[in-house]
Amino acid sequence: MDCDKCGADAVTHAAYSGAHLCGEHFRRSVEKRVRRRVREDGLLDPDATPDDPDRWVIGLSGGKDSVVLATILEETFGQDPRVELIGLTIHEGIEGYRDESLAACRELTDDLGMRHEVVSYAEEFGVEMDDVVETDPENMAACAYCGVFRRDLLETYAEELDADKLLTGHNLDDEAQTALMNVLEGDVRQIAKHFDASLGPFADRNPGSDDGADPNARAESDHFVPRAKPLRDVPEKEVALYCHLRDLPSHMAECPHAEEAYRGEIKSVLHELEESHPGTRHSIMAGYEEIAGIVADRYREDGDDDDADLGECTECGSTTSREVCRKCRLIESIEAV
Ligand code: SF4
Ligand SMILES: [Zn+2]
Ligand SMILES: [Zn+2]
Repeated sequence: MDCDKCGADAVTHAAYSGAHLCGEHFRRSVEKRVRRRVREDGLLDPDATPDDPDRWVIGLSGGKDSVVLATILEETFGQDPRVELIGLTIHEGIEGYRDESLAACRELTDDLGMRHEVVSYAEEFGVEMDDVVETDPENMAACAYCGVFRRDLLETYAEELDADKLLTGHNLDDEAQTALMNVLEGDVRQIAKHFDASLGPFADRNPGSDDGADPNARAESDHFVPRAKPLRDVPEKEVALYCHLRDLPSHMAECPHAEEAYRGEIKSVLHELEESHPGTRHSIMAGYEEIAGIVADRYREDGDDDDADLGECTECGSTTSREVCRKCRLIESIEAV
């Protein structure tokens, strides 16, 4: 097939739009969607100036999503003195997985000339995920610990780095899965939080919400640096193709402890639906976003906001609805083994 735009050989056919595109036009179409999302979300603070720039911290795992996000943002805003970009990598202590992806992050940030910070569970909490999996004091999936720790560090360091926004590489598939999970679980409050945390335009949101997008760790959190997901209009397969066509340094291997049973089921259901009804992911997100906005408004009007009873963790000072936050409780139980 030929590219719809220029007649060169097409490298991709998107069933949901019917478009055939060559490498060059495919690349442009991905970048255009990311820039449009940045604009529509109002990501760049209109008051940002070269003296007081908007500081965006990007959660950089070294996987294709965050690598593509960092690359497109750097190429779009790298020369803009109103924006400062910092890559933040979390080292979980997973042998044969994180060291390789950390190398990809270093190579990428070197190539891009982007500031890069690395924090580890070992240094911050005195634990490594490989040991946690061995002892497993709470009898939970690895990701249930890991999600809580990662989220805590992303949040703590985004604040410490004085970030105005925390950006993550969630793609369209991730977001449609989260939306469907929230609907199937009947979790309306979570839908409202998803809107406030990362779906709505900045001006319409109530920051400090948790969107639950981190698999298996949706219980408790306290985001005060607002989040955004500029890749959320781009399907996973297209992110992978973009990464491949540009030969970006990324680490493709799966974490050996990955165990996302429910999300995995949802993923395959969505995949089948998308095959037989192209455009399903887009239509889920369009409808869900509208509903989520209405629901978030309703909770706000009712003053039904569980941020109201938040206090400080007596161990670490982070914000929590309990006396001791979940992260501290988990660390305590790991140390007790
Ligand atoms: S798959 Fe689970 S255990 Fe592995 S890095 Fe991700 S959250 Fe952590
Ligand atoms: Zn073309
Ligand atoms: Zn704590």
